[in-house]
Order: sequence, then C-alpha cells, then structure tokens
Amino acid sequence: MAYKTVNPYNNELVKSYPDATTEEIENALSTGHALYKQWRDEPIAGRAKTLHKIADLLRENEDELAKIATIDMGKLLTESKGEVELCAIIADYYADNGADLLKPTPISTMATGAAEVLHQSTGVLMMVEPWNFPYYQIMRVFAPNFIVGNPMILKHASNTPGSAAAFEKIVKDAGAPDGSLTNLFASYDQVSDIIADPRVQGVALTGSKRGGQSVASVAGQNLKKNSMELGGSDAFVVLSDADLDTAVDLAWRVRIYNNGQVCTSNKRFIVADNLYDEFLAKLKDAFAKLKPGDPMDPSTSYAPMNSERAKKKLQGQIDKAIEGGAKVAFGNTPVDLPGQFIQPTILTDISKDNPEFYDELFGPVAQVFKVGSDQEAIDLANDSELGLGGIVLSSDPAHGKAVAAKIETGMVFVNSFLVSLPELPFGGVKGSGYGREMSQLGLNAFVNDKLVVTSQTPDWGNAAGGLAVFNGK
Ligand code: NAP
Repeated sequence: MAYKTVNPYNNELVKSYPDATTEEIENALSTGHALYKQWRDEPIAGRAKTLHKIADLLRENEDELAKIATIDMGKLLTESKGEVELCAIIADYYADNGADLLKPTPISTMATGAAEVLHQSTGVLMMVEPWNFPYYQIMRVFAPNFIVGNPMILKHASNTPGSAAAFEKIVKDAGAPDGSLTNLFASYDQVSDIIADPRVQGVALTGSKRGGQSVASVAGQNLKKNSMELGGSDAFVVLSDADLDTAVDLAWRVRIYNNGQVCTSNKRFIVADNLYDEFLAKLKDAFAKLKPGDPMDPSTSYAPMNSERAKKKLQGQIDKAIEGGAKVAFGNTPVDLPGQFIQPTILTDISKDNPEFYDELFGPVAQVFKVGSDQEAIDLANDSELGLGGIVLSSDPAHGKAVAAKIETGMVFVNSFLVSLPELPFGGVKGSGYGREMSQLGLNAFVNDKLVVTSQTPDWGNAAGGLAVFNGK
C-alpha cells in the first residue's frame, strides 16, 4: 500500500490506505462524466449554495481537520487551522462571485448579429496535488471548477491520504453530488490512464519539476489541456533604502512558515551591501530563538519536515552546498528529537558554480547573498531556472515597484508577505510552470470559451462580406 500517514513528529505509522481499484477508477470516471452532463443544464446557484455549505463545514470542523493535516505532514497546528480558514474563504469567494465571473462576455464585431463568448464547463478534470498544504492545494482547483461545473478526480500526495479523505468527506457531507470530487489512492500509471480517458478534459498539477514533467507529457500525448504549478526559488530583495528591522522580521517568518516547505517561501535573500552585515546578524538572532517541538503544542516554533525522504533530500542538498564552498552562518546541527527535524540554517557565499546554486531548497534553509546595486539584485533574482514569486523591500514603494517590475516571475509583492487569496492569480513562469490558479484567470483555466453569434434573420450577403474581409479581399 503506497498511501500512508506516518506522523513525522514521532515516525509512527498512523494508517495505511488500500490502493485504488480498476472498478473505483471506472466508477469515478463514469459518475463524473454523468455529473458533467447533468450540471450543464443546472444553474450555478445550486452549486454556489453547496460551496457555501462546504465553507461552513470547514469552519465547523476546523480543529479536527487541522489535527489530521498536522499528523499527516507535520506542520504547526496553528498553521493547519489557518489553512482550513483560507480554504473556507476561497469556497465562499467562488460561491459569491462565480456566477458574475462566468457571465458571457459580449464582443463588439463587424459580424451580423450579437457576438458573445460563453464560459462553459468542459468535463471531468484530473488534479494531482502535493502534501505541503494538504487542503488548500485541493481547494485552489476545486472551488473554481465546482462553480464552473467541471467534476474532479483527486490524486493527492501519498503521505497525506488522511487529509485527502477528510476533504472528500466534507464535500460529500455538504450535499455535493457524487462525482463532484472523487479521491482515489491511485498509482502513477493509473493517473496516466485516467488522463488518457476521453471523458477527462484537463489536468491540474501542483508539485515538483519531476512530477510536472511526467504528468504534462502524458497530458500532451493525449492533447489534454493542463496547468502546472511547480517549484520556486523566490528572491527576497532588500534594497539599500529598506528598513532593516522590518526586513528581518519578514525574512525569518517567510522562511520558517510551514517549515520553509512552501513553493513561494523566499529561499534566496538578496541584500544590499550597506545592510548585509546587520541583516545577517539579525537573521541569525531570529533563527536562534526558534524552538523545535511537537507541532500540536502552541509553544513550538518550528516543526519537523513532512517526511523522512524530505529530510534526507534537504540534508543532502545542504551538505552538497557546503562541499561546493557555501559557509554555514547559522544552524545545520542535528536536532535531538526523534522526528524529521532540520534546524533552521543560514548559508552564505554560494557562488554561481556551487552545485546547489540553481536548486530549490524546500525547507528551513536561507541562502543569503550580498549585492552592490539594484541592477545586481535584479540580475541575481533573475538568474534562476524558476520564476514563481518574490518580495522586494524598500522604504520607497515606487522604488520597490520599479524593481519588482523587472523580476521575471509570476508574482511579486512589495513590502509585504506573499499572500494567496482567491481574487489574486497564483502561478509562475519559466521552470515554475504555466497557467494560473484562482482569480478570474484560474476560474477560466478549464472552461470552454465558446463564441456564439446570433443574427435575427439569416443574412448571407453580410456573412459572405465577413468572409471576404477575413480572406483579405
Ligand atoms: P511531487 O513529488 O511532484 O508530488 C506532487 C504530486 O505529484 C504528488 O501527488 C505526487 O504523488 C504526484 N506525482 C509525482 N510524480 C507523478 C507522476 N509521474 N504521475 C502522477 N503523479 C505524480 O512534488 P513534491 O516534491 O512532493 O512537492 C513539492 C514541490 O511542489 C516543490 O517543488 C514545491 O515548490 C512545489 N509546489 C508548487 C506550488 C505552486 O503552486 N507552484 C505549490 C506547492 C508546492 P506521490 O506523492 O504519490 O509521489
């Protein structure tokens, strides 16, 4: 059985889950496809009501859901609770705004008649999600597509099956029809078969480059539309006019939140030379105050990594970076607890030929760089195979915004924590993937933008004229 919860705080096997069967997969596909056809004839209002109910149930069950997520993947319980609330906010947003956002778009045209683009559902979607936000990652795809009328099949990470099952139950308990969201403990091959099935019209994946490449190639072979939300090595740019204390206060929080296992957690701190020494000293102080412990205990300030595999991978990357010349400014000493802990660590002197220079360090490790000018900061921020997000700090917001505009990523926040909210598009460029989740853009990811032109009476003359114009005659 590949799907199991192993509590990363104490390494206990909590529960194993049976693999998906061929019958379960066929049932998910046929139920989903039938629901797609049913939803095409139903008004959005019914689904909006259910989505509000889902938000209500998430809030009512916040404590229980938060515990499940924390046991699955180890994040602090307070963070799990925040994640459940964010899911409820997203569900409410699409329930309130979905119908408006999906209104037909009129087009002014030379064609005879009224032209408009309808935004319609396309069919069953396959979603493949990671463990780092075990509910929010599902909700980012689920809420918009539920409103659109696209039923979904979920393949969650193999180490967060408890959260996957709990999310599916909330959807069911809210009265959503069967097939709205079917969680399957599917293998990679089964995921490929599902993507290839003619009833499936799209694939959304959030995860690593490796996972993205595999799933996108299967989607490509089968000509299925797909969106890829992949890794990030976001820059945190401290400009020479930034307020130092604000910068440090934000820096340790962004790096330690969710134990650094966030795609948009800033991994590279690019600091103007006039502030560098003090920034580094204060960041060390901030990291030194953090205490490992039970993620269920509100006094714990940093949690274990999500799994033994993740800890081994990150420790290997730290070791390789050091072998390649990086210096340890703080941390990298073993944590005397049985769980999968990595001490928050600060690395400096990472040169371009360091084997880890281009790698995403997915955990509590800050790489700190010194730069002599804005241009040097921009060039270093852009010297990455990834392009997800970023933060720029300046006491002059216009200065910060001018630098932000030159950073090659999908999202940049000036003087603020990078927030994810339903009205804001989320996604990246370059190796961070393509497509956007949430906002109007995410809502439209898997819709059929269908042109309908309605003439009062047939008008062949004008239609021929239109064709003639089209042909350049
Ligand atoms: P991962 O290994 O790619 O896993 C993500 C999901 O993809 C899991 O459900 C995984 O299943 C599945 N998967 C992987 N290969 C597959 C294949 N060939 N066929 C079908 N499913 C496959 O990613 P991870 O390393 O656990 O997650 C961390 C990565 O996700 C980081 O790079 C992080 O930056 C990125 N991320 C990106 C965003 C974003 O919005 N851009 C958000 C969060 C995380 P198994 O668990 O069964 O392997």
